Formats: sequence, C-alpha cells, structure tokens
Amino acid sequence: AELDTLDIIVLAAILLGTAAYFTKGKLWGVTKDPYASSFAGANGKAGKTRNIVEKLEESGKNCIIFYGSQTGTAEDYASRLAKEGKSRFGLETMVADLEEFDYDNLDAIPNDKVVMFVLATYGEGEPTDNAVDFYEFVTGEDVSFNEGNDPPLNNLNFVAFGLGNNTYEHYNSMVRNVTKALEKHGAHRIGEAGEGDDGAGTMEEDFLAWKDPMWKALQEKMGLDEREAVYEPIFGIVERETLTKDSPEVYVGEPNKMHLDGTPKGPFNAHNPYIAPIAKSYELFSVKDRNCLHMEVDISGSNLTYQTGDHIAVWPTNPGEEVDHFLTTFGLADKRHQVISVKALEPTAKVPFPTPTTFDAIVRYHMEICAPVSRQFIATLAAFAPDEESKAEMTKLGGDKDYFHQKINVHHLNIARILKSVSKGQPWTNVPFSALIEGVTKLQPRYYSISSSSLEQPKMISITAVVERQTIPGRDDPFHGVATNYLLALKEKQNGEPNPTPFGLSYEITGPRNRYDGVHVPVHVRHSNFKLPSDPTKPIIMIGPGTGVAPFRGFVRERVNQVKNGETVGKTILFFGCRKRTEDFLYDKEWQEAKEVLGDNFELVLAFSRDGPKKIYVQQRLQERAEDINALLEKKAYFYVCGDAANMAREVNLVLGKILSEQRGIPETKAEEIVKNMRAANQYQEDVW
Ligand code: FAD
Repeated sequence: AELDTLDIIVLAAILLGTAAYFTKGKLWGVTKDPYASSFAGANGKAGKTRNIVEKLEESGKNCIIFYGSQTGTAEDYASRLAKEGKSRFGLETMVADLEEFDYDNLDAIPNDKVVMFVLATYGEGEPTDNAVDFYEFVTGEDVSFNEGNDPPLNNLNFVAFGLGNNTYEHYNSMVRNVTKALEKHGAHRIGEAGEGDDGAGTMEEDFLAWKDPMWKALQEKMGLDEREAVYEPIFGIVERETLTKDSPEVYVGEPNKMHLDGTPKGPFNAHNPYIAPIAKSYELFSVKDRNCLHMEVDISGSNLTYQTGDHIAVWPTNPGEEVDHFLTTFGLADKRHQVISVKALEPTAKVPFPTPTTFDAIVRYHMEICAPVSRQFIATLAAFAPDEESKAEMTKLGGDKDYFHQKINVHHLNIARILKSVSKGQPWTNVPFSALIEGVTKLQPRYYSISSSSLEQPKMISITAVVERQTIPGRDDPFHGVATNYLLALKEKQNGEPNPTPFGLSYEITGPRNRYDGVHVPVHVRHSNFKLPSDPTKPIIMIGPGTGVAPFRGFVRERVNQVKNGETVGKTILFFGCRKRTEDFLYDKEWQEAKEVLGDNFELVLAFSRDGPKKIYVQQRLQERAEDINALLEKKAYFYVCGDAANMAREVNLVLGKILSEQRGIPETKAEEIVKNMRAANQYQEDVW
C-alpha cells in the first residue's frame, strides 16, 4: 500500500525519534489492534477486495463480525464483540459492513475461523439497507456457493445476534431467517442466536446476557484461552503542530472531502448529506413544556428527489454546552482546537470521521455524546478512573444491572455527566482518546416522515417534529433531544434570531466554516415503502395521532392536488388524536382547506385525550366506526398507521382484528389472519418509531 501523508509523518517521527511527538498525551497507543465503525468515503482505500476469504487471509484474521445496521446500534455491538474477542480471548477480529463483501464463497471460509452476524431487523421485517443483498443471497431459493461442498456450508462456524422490536409483527425476522438459512445449508451455529428487544427497552441487557454463554461456547469450540483483558487502543492520535483549525486541509465538521473543498456534489445519501437551505419554519404549537416544528427544506439545488411517504434524515450537531462538558470531563477543553490526525493502527479498522481534524469537531459533529451509555463501556472506563474510589464505583456500575439502572438510566445521564458524578468533578485525563472513539457511537442522522406531497412540491420537503424535552425526576435540568432542539435553534435563526439559544442550548449554527449560514441544514432522503395506492380512486384509512400525522399531511395534500388536476380520488379518512383541541391540534386550518376541495370524500375523525372527563384515543374512534371501516376494507381500502410503535400501532392492529371479526361474523383468529394478509399485500402499511 502506498504511504499517505500520515504514514510518512508517523514514520518520520519514529525514524527521527523526535520525542516531542510522543510526549504524554500526544500519541496514544501504538499497539496493533482491530476494528472500528465504518466511515465511508473518508479513508476507504480504492480497489478493496470483496472476497471474505482473501480479506481474512491478507489481514491475518480468524474472526469476522458482520453487521446489518440502520441506526448504528448493530454496528456498535459488532465493534464491541470485536474488541472483547480480542482482549479476552486473543481472537484476531475484524468488523465488516455486510454491503462490502460477496457471499458466494462463504463455504470457503476454513473451519478454524468464526463468522459473527449482528443483524438488525428494520420496519416490517426487512433487512437494513446495507444487508439487503446479503439477505437475498443467503435466503434465496436457488443459492449456490463456489466450492460445491455437501452440505455447502459444512465448514462454516457462525454466531448470531439480532436487534429487533417485539411491537412489530416480524420480530427479529432477520436473525431468525438468516440463522435458518445458514443452518439449512449445513453451517454450525455456536451458542444461541441471540435476540435483543428494543420494544421492551432491554436491547442492551439482552445483548449482555447473550454474549457470555456465547463466548463460553466459542471458547470450547475453538479451544480459546481466556486471558486478563487489557486495553489496547485501536487508533493512534498524532498532534499536528504545523496545522491550525483554519488550515484548508483540516476538517472542522465537514462530513467528507467534497464538503471540505467546498464543492459538495451528489449523489447525496447516508454518507454525503446535502446542505439544504431552510425555506420556511414555524411552530405548529408551543405550550408550557412542549412545542412542535414545521420546517420546509429546499432541495431544488440538489439532485435529491422524494416521493410522498418517504423519510428525510437530518444530520444534527451537538449543543455547545454538552460539547464543553464532554471536553472538560476528559481534560481536553484547553486543546479543543488542537489539530490531530487519527490513524487506525491496523488495516481492517476505519477511523469513523475524516482527519486531520480537531477534538472540538469530532465531539461536536461525529460523536453521540448525549445518548445512553452501555454498561460495558462503563466497565471498560473503570481502568482509567482518576482515583480508586471512582474505579470501584465504575466497576460496580459496570457489573450490576439494577444498580446501573437506578443510578444512570432513570436520570437520563450521558457519558460526561456519569463520569463527573462518579469522580465528584475530577477530570478523567487518563482515558485514551482512542477509547472514546471506540466506545462512543457515531452521531446518527435522525429520520422524519416527510409531511409534504411530492406532487404538490417536488423540490420542497417538509418536516413535522415535536421537540424532545423531558423533565427527569431527581435532576434539576430537563433532558433535551439532540436533533429536535438543533432544529428549534435553526427555526429561531431562520426567523431572525442571530444567536438562538433555545432552552439555554447553543449550537454552532452556521456550521463548519460558516457553510450552513443563511440557515442550512444537512439532510439526505431515504426512500420508504409507505406509499399511497397507485390508483387514487382507492379509499384510504389513515391513523396518525400526534406527529404520526406527518406523512398523512402529505397524503391528503397529494389527493387535494390530484383533484385540482382533474383526477377522481377515493374516500379519505384520517384519524387524528392529541391532548387538547386548543393545545396541540396539528394543521387544523389545512384540514379545513382540504375539506373544501375534497368535500365529503375527506373525513377527519378526532380524538382528544385531555379535553373532557374521558380520555379518548384514536383506537376508540376506530372501534366506533367499525361498520364504515369494514365497508371500506371490502372495497379494498388501504389502511395506514403512523407514529408510536410501542402502544398505539399495536393496539390499532388489535382493534382492526376485532372490527373484522365482529362485522364479518368470523372468529378472531380468522380476522387476525386477514389482517396479516393485508400486511403481506401492502394493504396495511405502518410507518412507526
Ligand atoms: P434524541 O437525543 O435522539 O433522544 C431520543 C430519545 O432517546 C429520548 O427521548 C430518550 O428517550 C432517549 N435518550 C436519549 N439520550 C438518553 C440518555 N442519555 N439516557 C436515557 N435516554 C436517552 N419524529 C417526529 O417528531 N416526527 C416525525 O415525523 C418522525 N418520523 C420518524 C420516522 C422514522 C422512520 C423514525 C425512525 C423516526 C421518526 N421520528 C419522528 C423520530 C425522530 O427520528 C427522532 O427520534 C426524534 O425527533 C428525537 O430525536 P432527538 O435527536 O431530538 O432526540
């Protein structure tokens, strides 16, 4: 491989023996070590092999951990398995994105190696975007492997963990189907195929409970000895004395090279956001402790397209106060603008952001510093505690699930807040920065159901988002969501406030090198299967309480425009629910305008939970309209649900089964069967979160 600038710098430093480079705190860790999360574009090398066997051989690995990840959790778990496999058992591990390899030679992986799959199930039992090809390949009817073994995967040892949500019909179907397919072809599963449940909120604990027996089984199978786990950094950090944050080659938050050069080009996607102007933004409602935003994002300057029902992803920035808190905790506040290069210390690891960059930029733009923290990470950090007392407390927190829950989870603490409280304010200067890159997940884009119609405004996307803010018992300041408070700040800026500080939070609102000034927000579009029937005369029934109404605003506006264009549209019923008519009723006026165009074809059914003596929810309204619903479904109406996955969507599903059973005089099991078939035929669609 050719030497890049950093290689030369590292080499030069070593050759010259310039001690200055290696003085305390300047270069952490030079030991070889694997993994990291993927960062497409920044340091991917051209001409990479897609051949797993070749990759394992050339890198000397005996354990490859594939992830199918949508929001980063599966990827994070994969990295953690890699790290643990290496430090506890001396496995030579590497993490890999399923998208980056071919699978027809899975059968050529020798049986002294192990392949791990960490697979999230997305939406209606679907693979994550990066796992689609893999999934279709292994579960395919006439899959054929290269070697012609019998059974084909007789040499393959694998481990599997799934991330799912039990509120969905196809709970953990990815890991279940993949496991089944691999076993069908003769592969040997080691340990149980684990299942984590986001619906029950136990994902992290499910993962921790699964992995210990798995390691035991793997130890036996591969004859591994456990050793005392020692921390070995994966990334080396070099301070770049000749560069400042204003040097043109230094990334101060730009997501990739094109953005650094000031010439971002499409395709815009999950690796390359479009810096979109915000055309309009306002609050749909604002009451004491809740507010909801409507924002129009202009994509006309890009080649982005969308269809009604798609999702837009917003790339947030962390609030300055939390960035400061984080940097102070790790003793980095004074050198926040120090330019550093980060180098993976071995070839299969990837630095999850572009460099050279600064501590400030990494923490502000690339790390999920406000999120919940894993117990495992707390246990890892114990070794770097500033004193024995803190170390003991960290070890206890890391080892005791209930204690951790009661001390950390219930207070919504993030990493910096936890450490500060454990050490009573003493900084944690012993923590290698590499450990933070490894242990803090990558800042994730947030998805929003697009609330505009592409027929009406193909180049303007609207977002309907409720600002995430919660009072937490036992904490004097409320908890604030990352993306929605950033959006709120953008809204204030767009409406003329030069330095917005919503709820006292400040943001680098003009972005890296002020390139988001004029009020821009980085976004990309994700296409979804949540779609209106292609025949507009088909009736539609929509259930969308709260911000679940977002895509249905798009649907209704689409139908209004179809009528304006002379088309005939079918019956359109929307069930909307909120607390009070006068408080959080979204788009009241727009529904009236729609009614003027659609006439009796449009009906809005309302449920208010705090407006009268009785709480009314959309599910009850649906039940009250049983006869109409059944009649419409007999006319092949499409049925849509959007919003809260945990309770509402599940209950709506049950109510629909009941309605069909009563109205058609059939047993409930038969009715449930019909609902299932509706889902399979896309006549019942969900967009829930
Ligand atoms: P975050 O910072 O991500 O926090 C979200 C939640 O995570 C918190 O409420 C809390 O429960 C938990 N949490 C975070 N940090 C901690 C911590 N340290 N300790 C404990 N718990 C913590 N939202 C809309 O408003 N409108 C939409 O149209 C919409 N559409 C969506 C469509 C899809 C497909 C998906 C997946 C989601 C959609 N969402 C929508 C939700 C949206 O993506 C965001 O999740 C939401 O806006 C909150 O983002 P945030 O960054 O403000 O909050």
